[in-house]
Amino acid sequence: MSKMKSHLFKAISLTSTFFLSHPLYAENNLTIYCTLQNEACEEVVQRFSTQHNINAKFVRSSTGVTLGKIKAEKDKPQADIWYGGTIDPHLQARDLGLLEKYRSPKQSEVLPQFKHLVEKYGDYTSFGYMLVLGLGINTHKLKQLGLEHPKCWSDLLDPRFKGEVQLPDPQSSGTGYSFLATLIQMWGEEKAFSFLKQLDRNISHYVKSGIVTSNLARGDSSVSIGFLHTFEAEKAKGAPIQSVSVCEGDSYTLGGISIIKGARNLENAKIFMDWALSKEGQELNWMRKAPYQIPTNKYTEILPDAVKPNQLNLIDFDFERFGSSEQAKKILSHWIEKIKLSK
Ligand code: PLP
Repeated sequence: MSKMKSHLFKAISLTSTFFLSHPLYAENNLTIYCTLQNEACEEVVQRFSTQHNINAKFVRSSTGVTLGKIKAEKDKPQADIWYGGTIDPHLQARDLGLLEKYRSPKQSEVLPQFKHLVEKYGDYTSFGYMLVLGLGINTHKLKQLGLEHPKCWSDLLDPRFKGEVQLPDPQSSGTGYSFLATLIQMWGEEKAFSFLKQLDRNISHYVKSGIVTSNLARGDSSVSIGFLHTFEAEKAKGAPIQSVSVCEGDSYTLGGISIIKGARNLENAKIFMDWALSKEGQELNWMRKAPYQIPTNKYTEILPDAVKPNQLNLIDFDFERFGSSEQAKKILSHWIEKIKLSK
């Protein structure tokens, strides 16, 4: 190596050593707790990392499990941001002082029907997408059993559905918690728990997460309670599944995005939140040409046959009540005592 080349080589090595060892440059990381479908988490994180030159990684868990992890790691946070999952546990995390304050400028692009919620809760949590609660049915299996298609929550109590209904466990799953909250809101606690007790006779599986739709696709259960897009996604893969909006009205939730208190990569977490709320960050799933969650950015184009938020008969969901950590504790201990552990 010539003398000049050798100097140049040393200079480059020293510069890269500086960049790698200097905390400002070395820590270009982001750890995301992701509560979307696993493949959606992969795509989002990969696209974000490439575009922003940030070394992002994710861990996927269901909503209740993620909240449990954030609580347990309070004194030593292991992730920077929580992306996805039903909104109530995000609000509970805020209630418990587990979130970092950040109001993203991209909140100004939210759909008009969610503007009041963003104004109310947006200091700590942003809304990345919307999900509509309903039923998934396996049409082959119902035909085999000679059963009519259920249209209402109340149809699920028919004894002919014994061992045919799947419900995600409200303790671990945001889907299950949304269902529980929906019943309580519609009917009050007493009637809701009496319904769940009767429904328990017909339950085939209490699954850990709302994304577990393979049992329904295989026909191990003929009916599943969950978010409509998960059933549409199974249908798109060829399963004999239909999604059903229930007669009692469309209950829904919003997918939360919150920065975790004490995030080590705070600036990168803010960049991620802004991106996940942008048209570009929300059109990824649309580009996959699969019916995934409904975007909340008003400029986002959606699949022609996707559920349109303004065509739904939405119930007035009480996020204040079900996002309170006290309420959640009370409801879930009732659930555990009266249904899960009571035989
Ligand atoms: N976010 C998305 C996009 C989902 O599809 C689901 C469930 O279907 C959830 C969040 C809630 O997941 P979990 O029930 O695992 O908490």
